[in-house]
Amino acid sequence: MTLVDSHCHLDDRQFSADRDETIARARAAGVETMLAIGSGDGPPDLEAAVRLAEAYPFLYATIGVHPHDASKATPGTFDRLRALATHPKVRAVGEIGLDYHYDLSPRPIQRTVFSAQLAIAREASLPIVIHTREAWDDTLAILRAEWQGAGVMHCFTGGPGQARQALDLGFHLAFGGVITFPKAESTRESARLTPLDRILVETDCPYLAPVPHRGKRNEPAFMLETVKYLAMIRNTTPEEIAGVTTRNFRALFQ
Ligand SMILES: [Zn+2]
Ligand SMILES: [Zn+2]
Repeated sequence: MTLVDSHCHLDDRQFSADRDETIARARAAGVETMLAIGSGDGPPDLEAAVRLAEAYPFLYATIGVHPHDASKATPGTFDRLRALATHPKVRAVGEIGLDYHYDLSPRPIQRTVFSAQLAIAREASLPIVIHTREAWDDTLAILRAEWQGAGVMHCFTGGPGQARQALDLGFHLAFGGVITFPKAESTRESARLTPLDRILVETDCPYLAPVPHRGKRNEPAFMLETVKYLAMIRNTTPEEIAGVTTRNFRALFQ
Protein backbone atom coordinates (compact mmCIF):
# COMPACT_ATOMS: atom_id res chain seq x y z
CA MET A 1 0.00 0.00 0.00
CA THR A 2 1.45 3.36 -0.99
CA LEU A 3 0.29 6.62 0.56
CA VAL A 4 0.67 10.29 -0.18
CA ASP A 5 0.82 13.10 2.35
CA SER A 6 -0.73 16.04 0.53
CA HIS A 7 0.17 18.65 3.15
CA CYS A 8 3.17 18.67 5.46
CA HIS A 9 5.34 21.35 7.05
CA LEU A 10 8.63 19.50 6.92
CA ASP A 11 10.52 22.80 7.10
CA ASP A 12 9.15 23.39 10.61
CA ARG A 13 11.78 23.83 13.28
CA GLN A 14 10.20 20.98 15.24
CA PHE A 15 11.92 18.76 12.64
CA SER A 16 15.30 20.50 12.86
CA ALA A 17 16.93 17.73 14.86
CA ASP A 18 15.63 14.75 12.87
CA ARG A 19 14.27 15.93 9.50
CA ASP A 20 16.07 13.31 7.41
CA GLU A 21 15.04 10.54 9.82
CA THR A 22 11.42 11.78 9.76
CA ILE A 23 11.39 11.62 5.97
CA ALA A 24 12.98 8.16 6.05
CA ARG A 25 10.31 6.95 8.54
CA ALA A 26 7.61 8.27 6.19
CA ARG A 27 9.01 6.30 3.28
CA ALA A 28 9.37 3.19 5.43
CA ALA A 29 5.69 3.56 6.40
CA GLY A 30 4.67 3.62 2.74
CA VAL A 31 4.34 7.39 2.29
CA GLU A 32 5.74 7.51 -1.19
CA THR A 33 5.19 11.18 -2.00
CA MET A 34 4.84 14.30 0.12
CA LEU A 35 3.77 17.83 -0.72
CA ALA A 36 5.88 20.20 1.36
CA ILE A 37 4.01 23.40 2.15
CA GLY A 38 6.20 26.42 1.63
CA SER A 39 4.59 29.15 3.68
CA GLY A 40 7.23 28.75 6.42
CA ASP A 41 7.68 31.80 8.60
CA GLY A 42 6.44 34.04 5.83
CA PRO A 43 8.20 36.59 3.63
CA PRO A 44 10.96 37.30 2.88
CA ASP A 45 11.73 33.54 2.81
CA LEU A 46 9.41 32.00 0.22
CA GLU A 47 11.52 28.94 -0.56
CA ALA A 48 11.16 26.82 2.58
CA ALA A 49 9.59 23.93 0.66
CA VAL A 50 11.50 24.42 -2.60
CA ARG A 51 14.78 23.73 -0.75
CA LEU A 52 13.38 20.41 0.51
CA ALA A 53 11.93 19.46 -2.86
CA GLU A 54 15.31 20.07 -4.45
CA ALA A 55 16.91 17.71 -1.94
CA TYR A 56 14.47 14.78 -2.29
CA PRO A 57 13.15 13.45 -5.64
CA PHE A 58 9.83 12.29 -4.10
CA LEU A 59 9.06 15.63 -2.44
CA TYR A 60 7.12 18.39 -4.19
CA ALA A 61 6.67 21.97 -3.04
CA THR A 62 4.12 24.71 -2.75
CA ILE A 63 4.83 28.42 -2.53
CA GLY A 64 2.66 31.03 -0.92
CA VAL A 65 2.04 33.51 1.87
CA HIS A 66 -0.09 32.11 4.73
CA PRO A 67 -2.88 34.46 5.86
CA HIS A 68 -1.08 34.78 9.22
CA ASP A 69 1.84 36.42 7.39
CA ALA A 70 -0.17 38.54 4.96
CA SER A 71 1.05 41.80 6.49
CA LYS A 72 4.68 40.82 5.73
CA ALA A 73 4.03 40.73 1.96
CA THR A 74 5.51 43.47 -0.23
CA PRO A 75 5.36 44.02 -4.00
CA GLY A 76 8.68 42.15 -4.18
CA THR A 77 7.04 39.14 -2.51
CA PHE A 78 4.64 38.74 -5.41
CA ASP A 79 7.41 39.16 -8.00
CA ARG A 80 9.39 36.41 -6.30
CA LEU A 81 6.33 34.11 -6.08
CA ARG A 82 5.72 34.65 -9.80
CA ALA A 83 9.31 33.61 -10.55
CA LEU A 84 9.19 30.58 -8.23
CA ALA A 85 5.91 29.41 -9.78
CA THR A 86 7.89 28.20 -12.80
CA HIS A 87 10.22 25.99 -10.70
CA PRO A 88 9.76 22.37 -11.83
CA LYS A 89 9.11 21.05 -8.29
CA VAL A 90 6.52 23.72 -7.43
CA ARG A 91 3.08 22.16 -7.89
CA ALA A 92 0.66 24.55 -6.17
CA VAL A 93 0.21 27.97 -4.63
CA GLY A 94 -0.53 27.58 -0.94
CA GLU A 95 -1.34 27.56 1.71
CA ILE A 96 -3.27 30.73 1.05
CA GLY A 97 -6.62 31.96 2.30
CA LEU A 98 -8.11 33.67 5.33
CA ASP A 99 -7.75 33.07 9.06
CA TYR A 100 -10.13 35.13 11.20
CA HIS A 101 -9.51 32.95 14.26
CA TYR A 102 -6.04 34.26 15.07
CA ASP A 103 -6.30 37.50 13.06
CA LEU A 104 -2.50 37.70 12.96
CA SER A 105 -2.78 40.02 9.95
CA PRO A 106 -5.58 42.59 9.47
CA ARG A 107 -8.49 41.05 7.56
CA PRO A 108 -8.48 43.53 4.64
CA ILE A 109 -4.77 42.76 4.09
CA GLN A 110 -5.46 39.01 4.28
CA ARG A 111 -8.09 39.40 1.55
CA THR A 112 -5.81 41.49 -0.69
CA VAL A 113 -2.88 39.07 -0.37
CA PHE A 114 -5.19 36.10 -0.99
CA SER A 115 -6.53 37.69 -4.20
CA ALA A 116 -3.06 38.60 -5.41
CA GLN A 117 -1.93 34.99 -4.99
CA LEU A 118 -5.00 33.66 -6.79
CA ALA A 119 -3.92 35.80 -9.73
CA ILE A 120 -0.39 34.35 -9.56
CA ALA A 121 -1.77 30.77 -9.50
CA ARG A 122 -4.04 31.57 -12.43
CA GLU A 123 -1.19 33.00 -14.51
CA ALA A 124 0.98 29.97 -13.73
CA SER A 125 -1.88 27.46 -14.21
CA LEU A 126 -1.19 25.98 -10.77
CA PRO A 127 -3.80 24.57 -8.38
CA ILE A 128 -4.29 26.20 -4.98
CA VAL A 129 -4.16 24.94 -1.40
CA ILE A 130 -6.67 26.81 0.76
CA HIS A 131 -6.41 27.51 4.47
CA THR A 132 -9.63 28.92 5.88
CA ARG A 133 -10.54 29.29 9.53
CA GLU A 134 -13.62 31.08 10.84
CA ALA A 135 -13.71 32.86 7.48
CA TRP A 136 -15.79 30.50 5.38
CA ASP A 137 -18.17 33.02 3.80
CA ASP A 138 -15.45 35.46 2.78
CA THR A 139 -13.23 32.64 1.47
CA LEU A 140 -16.03 31.25 -0.64
CA ALA A 141 -17.08 34.66 -1.95
CA ILE A 142 -13.53 35.42 -3.11
CA LEU A 143 -13.14 31.97 -4.71
CA ARG A 144 -16.49 32.24 -6.49
CA ALA A 145 -15.55 35.63 -7.91
CA GLU A 146 -11.89 35.03 -8.73
CA TRP A 147 -11.12 31.34 -9.16
CA GLN A 148 -12.09 28.73 -11.72
CA GLY A 149 -9.28 26.21 -11.50
CA ALA A 150 -8.54 23.23 -9.29
CA GLY A 151 -7.79 23.35 -5.61
CA VAL A 152 -7.83 21.74 -2.21
CA MET A 153 -9.54 22.74 1.01
CA HIS A 154 -6.72 21.67 3.28
CA CYS A 155 -7.43 20.20 6.72
CA PHE A 156 -11.11 20.31 5.97
CA THR A 157 -13.03 20.45 9.25
CA GLY A 158 -16.41 21.75 8.07
CA GLY A 159 -19.73 19.98 8.19
CA PRO A 160 -21.72 18.55 5.27
CA GLY A 161 -23.14 21.93 4.21
CA GLN A 162 -19.69 23.46 3.77
CA ALA A 163 -18.41 20.26 2.16
CA ARG A 164 -21.12 20.45 -0.50
CA GLN A 165 -20.35 24.13 -1.16
CA ALA A 166 -16.66 23.38 -1.67
CA LEU A 167 -17.38 20.33 -3.83
CA ASP A 168 -19.82 22.37 -5.95
CA LEU A 169 -16.98 24.82 -6.57
CA GLY A 170 -14.89 21.94 -7.90
CA PHE A 171 -12.59 21.62 -4.90
CA HIS A 172 -10.99 18.54 -3.43
CA LEU A 173 -11.32 18.07 0.32
CA ALA A 174 -8.25 16.98 2.28
CA PHE A 175 -8.90 15.19 5.55
CA GLY A 176 -6.35 14.84 8.32
CA GLY A 177 -5.98 13.73 11.91
CA VAL A 178 -9.04 15.73 12.99
CA ILE A 179 -11.39 13.04 11.65
CA THR A 180 -10.06 10.68 14.35
CA PHE A 181 -10.96 13.10 17.17
CA PRO A 182 -14.05 12.13 19.20
CA LYS A 183 -15.85 15.47 18.74
CA ALA A 184 -15.43 15.66 14.96
CA GLU A 185 -18.66 13.90 13.99
CA SER A 186 -19.82 16.56 11.51
CA THR A 187 -16.43 16.46 9.77
CA ARG A 188 -16.70 12.67 9.61
CA GLU A 189 -20.07 13.16 7.91
CA SER A 190 -18.30 15.35 5.34
CA ALA A 191 -15.66 12.66 4.86
CA ARG A 192 -18.42 10.12 4.19
CA LEU A 193 -20.23 12.20 1.58
CA THR A 194 -17.17 13.34 -0.41
CA PRO A 195 -16.95 11.48 -3.74
CA LEU A 196 -13.95 9.17 -3.91
CA ASP A 197 -12.42 11.13 -6.77
CA ARG A 198 -12.36 14.32 -4.64
CA ILE A 199 -10.72 13.02 -1.47
CA LEU A 200 -7.18 13.70 -0.35
CA VAL A 201 -5.42 12.90 2.90
CA GLU A 202 -2.83 14.93 4.75
CA THR A 203 -1.04 15.17 8.07
CA ASP A 204 -0.51 18.97 8.33
CA CYS A 205 2.44 17.86 10.45
CA PRO A 206 3.85 18.84 12.89
CA TYR A 207 0.29 19.74 13.91
CA LEU A 208 -2.90 17.70 14.48
CA ALA A 209 -1.55 14.20 15.00
CA PRO A 210 -4.24 11.53 14.59
CA VAL A 211 -5.34 9.22 17.40
CA PRO A 212 -3.42 7.32 18.87
CA HIS A 213 -0.65 9.91 18.53
CA ARG A 214 -2.87 12.88 19.40
CA GLY A 215 -1.03 15.60 21.29
CA LYS A 216 2.39 14.50 20.03
CA ARG A 217 4.39 15.97 17.18
CA ASN A 218 2.74 14.77 13.99
CA GLU A 219 4.80 13.38 11.10
CA PRO A 220 4.06 11.93 7.64
CA ALA A 221 4.54 8.34 8.88
CA PHE A 222 1.31 8.80 10.90
CA MET A 223 -0.61 9.17 7.60
CA LEU A 224 -1.59 5.50 7.85
CA GLU A 225 -3.73 6.09 10.98
CA THR A 226 -5.87 8.65 9.16
CA VAL A 227 -6.17 6.42 6.08
CA LYS A 228 -7.29 3.46 8.23
CA TYR A 229 -9.81 5.61 10.06
CA LEU A 230 -11.20 7.09 6.85
CA ALA A 231 -11.58 3.58 5.44
CA MET A 232 -13.44 2.49 8.56
CA ILE A 233 -15.98 5.34 8.51
CA ARG A 234 -16.55 4.88 4.77
CA ASN A 235 -16.92 1.11 5.05
CA THR A 236 -14.06 0.37 2.74
CA THR A 237 -10.46 -0.79 2.95
CA PRO A 238 -7.34 1.24 3.69
CA GLU A 239 -6.01 -0.07 0.35
CA GLU A 240 -8.88 1.58 -1.52
CA ILE A 241 -8.45 4.91 0.31
CA ALA A 242 -4.69 4.78 -0.29
CA GLY A 243 -5.27 4.05 -3.98
CA VAL A 244 -7.80 6.79 -4.67
CA THR A 245 -6.00 9.45 -2.65
CA THR A 246 -2.74 8.65 -4.44
CA ARG A 247 -4.47 8.83 -7.83
CA ASN A 248 -6.22 12.08 -6.93
CA PHE A 249 -2.96 13.59 -5.75
CA ARG A 250 -1.19 12.65 -8.96
CA ALA A 251 -3.97 14.07 -11.12
CA LEU A 252 -3.85 17.37 -9.25
CA PHE A 253 -0.18 17.89 -8.49
CA GLN A 254 2.08 15.53 -10.43
ZN1 LIG B 1 -3.54 25.53 7.36
ZN1 LIG C 1 -0.63 23.67 6.89
